[in-house]
Amino acid sequence: MVTGKPFLTVEQIEKRVQELAAEISNDYEGKDILAVGILKGAFMFFSDIVKLIQVPMDIDFLTVSSYVKKESTGTMNMHADLRENVRDRHVLLIEDIVDTGLTLNHIRTLLLERKPASLKICSFLDKKSCREIEVPLDYVGYAIPNHYIVGYGLDYENKFRNLPYISIFKSEDQE
Ligand code: 5GP
Repeated sequence: MVTGKPFLTVEQIEKRVQELAAEISNDYEGKDILAVGILKGAFMFFSDIVKLIQVPMDIDFLTVSSYVKKESTGTMNMHADLRENVRDRHVLLIEDIVDTGLTLNHIRTLLLERKPASLKICSFLDKKSCREIEVPLDYVGYAIPNHYIVGYGLDYENKFRNLPYISIFKSEDQE
């Protein structure tokens, strides 16, 4: 089940997305970027933030999975790679949430091998206390405690992604 009260409301999400977009627009002034969304979870955050970033951009997506139910498997499956060439481009990775850091670390290593001009990471949520491997995060929406979160693109068994706000998910047996 999803707990009744949003953990982050639509208003809190919108405000933070606007602030992040302003910061990114400022940092990349005069540059073109390649914004890379990490699917499926980042689809909502990605579409909200790219609308507000004020620099020219191309967009592309990577589709990966690493979670089964509420547990990270520790291995990342890449279901679809980028179609764009990243060499000499300013790549901005856009992620929904960082937990152990293993997924982003894999993606970061893979993309750095392709020699981008620069690579920065923007994650809407950061569960810092769960980190197993350090990954440099350049932009973070909210640092949050270790809850399992759904909504705003994030799922439990592929459900709840369409919630416009963020909630804490509890299994029936946790009630
Ligand atoms: P990591 O590899 O950092 O442990 O996990 C990253 C990925 O796991 C995220 O992109 C997301 O898909 C999934 N994930 C991590 N924490 C949560 C969470 O609290 N809720 C949901 N729905 N997915 C999560």
